[in-house]
Amino acid sequence: MSDELAHDLLWQADGHLTDVALTALADGEVALLSPAAASHAEECDACARRLGDAALFSTLLSEELAPVLLPVREPRQLPVAALLAAFALAIAGSLPVLIELPRWLLDVPRAVLVHTPLALRVAASFLKVISAAGPSLLLVWVTTTLVLAGFGLWVARSGTRQVEWKEAHR
Ligand SMILES: [Zn+2]
Repeated sequence: MSDELAHDLLWQADGHLTDVALTALADGEVALLSPAAASHAEECDACARRLGDAALFSTLLSEELAPVLLPVREPRQLPVAALLAAFALAIAGSLPVLIELPRWLLDVPRAVLVHTPLALRVAASFLKVISAAGPSLLLVWVTTTLVLAGFGLWVARSGTRQVEWKEAHR
């Protein structure tokens, strides 16, 4: 099945191509033309000239129509109200954390004081092992230290939560 236009649509009575055929060619729709019509457009000077006009017209038309078909959008105003609402919601959502944060930060030094001796003892024993076994255990030591620090923070945090719970239910 061919997309070619009918013979009547391609050829004028005088043996040259129709405006329809030349416009299709100018728009790059070569498949719409029969091979004979396409080769005529290349060989015939008169049709080549008309093809040039058709191509120019096609370009001008699309340039003229582009602003009409694709209207330039008005630069939209910043949705200040929506942004403010979203901002307020975000603050409200993080309010519990923000309220808890200072108390938690105040509790950190106490937790560090409580847990540091244990951590130091563990670290000291690891240092002894490292000095005996060599630098290959350094990675293990660093990892363990980080895990211990994380565990200490976790304990401090859950401890704070328990105190709060007890205070709330007294
Ligand atoms: Zn011709």
